[in-house]
Amino acid sequence: MTESRRCPDCGVGLEAMDVQTGDGFKLYLVTNEPKPGILGGLGAKEKLRPTVYVCPECGLVRLYAEE
Ligand SMILES: [Zn+2]
Repeated sequence: MTESRRCPDCGVGLEAMDVQTGDGFKLYLVTNEPKPGILGGLGAKEKLRPTVYVCPECGLVRLYAEE
């Protein structure tokens, strides 16, 4: 799935990276209620690790909520 992420400006493949705070804590998305679509499998208060993609050309950063 990582190969399909592309920068909308440059058209080059985005590189998957890990994101942390300065203290080393991971970033989480937390749902407050069941969601439709890609998040449909998540229940309330479930945590999801976002995947960070960075464009090597322009530096654009995108966050994707992936399983
Ligand atoms: Zn770019």
